[in-house]
Amino acid sequence: MLIDSHAHLDMKQFDSDRDQVIDRALSADVRRIITVGIDIKSSRNAVKLTTRYPSIFATAGIHPHNADNANKNDLAQISLIAQQDKIIGIGEIGLDFFRNRSARQKQIEVFTQQLAIAISLDLPVVIHDREAHAETLKILSSFKKNGLHGMIHCFSGDYKLAKTFINMGYYISIPGTVTFKNASQIQDVARNIPLNSLLLETDAPFLTPTPYRGKRNEPSYIIHTAQKIAKLRGVSFEEISSQTSKNVCQLFNLSFPE
Ligand SMILES: [Zn+2]
Ligand SMILES: [Zn+2]
Repeated sequence: MLIDSHAHLDMKQFDSDRDQVIDRALSADVRRIITVGIDIKSSRNAVKLTTRYPSIFATAGIHPHNADNANKNDLAQISLIAQQDKIIGIGEIGLDFFRNRSARQKQIEVFTQQLAIAISLDLPVVIHDREAHAETLKILSSFKKNGLHGMIHCFSGDYKLAKTFINMGYYISIPGTVTFKNASQIQDVARNIPLNSLLLETDAPFLTPTPYRGKRNEPSYIIHTAQKIAKLRGVSFEEISSQTSKNVCQLFNLSFPE
C-alpha cells in the first residue's frame, strides 16, 4: 500500500481522464491521495474531488506564485475552506525565490498569514520552499513555539537542512526526481534521514519519475519513487511503503487504511 502525500488532481492536465487516473492509482494500491490547493479556485476544486472520491483528501492554500493576487478576503476563504470535511491541512504555502512570480515581501506576508490560519485551526502545513531555505527556516522557527508542524514538500535542500527541519517537527517529502541520474543530493537525503520522517509524493502532473520522465506524472507512478528509495536504503519495498504511509496518516491525523 502507498499514499501519495502531494498531487494536483484538479489541474487541467487531468481534465480528460481524471477518473481513469484515480482508478489506476487504486489499482496500483495507492490507497490515498492528498490533492493540494494553490489558490482559492483550486482549493475549492480540491474539496469537490474529496466529495467524489473516497480515497482523496485535500489541503487548502495560496501558493507563493499566487501571493501577489491574494487579498484579505482570499485568506478568510482559505480559513473557511479548510474547515470543511476531508480538508486536512493548509497548503501549499511558502516561498519561491527561484521563479519569483510574486514579490518576495508579499510572498512572506501571505505565507505567515496562512501559518497563523493553520495554528488557529490546529492543522498541519504543506510547505513549498524553492531557493528560499534560509527565509523559510527563519519564518517556521518563529512559529515553532505555537506547535506548528507539517511537511516540506518536494524537499530540495541537503541532508543538513533536512535534519534541521526534522528537528523542528517536519516531515521531509521526496518526489520522483530522486529516480533521476545525477540526483545525488536528494538521493543522499532519501538514503540517510530517519525513515519515520520520510514521505513520498508525486507532485503530479509534475516531476515525473523514471521510466516515465518527460510524460505527465500521475499518482500511480509513485511506486517508482518508493522502489528507488528502498534500493537506496537497502530495505524492502514493503518497509518503505508501509512506514511512509504510516507517516502520512500520523501527520494528517488520518486513520490507517485497512
Ligand atoms: Zn510546490
Ligand atoms: Zn505541488
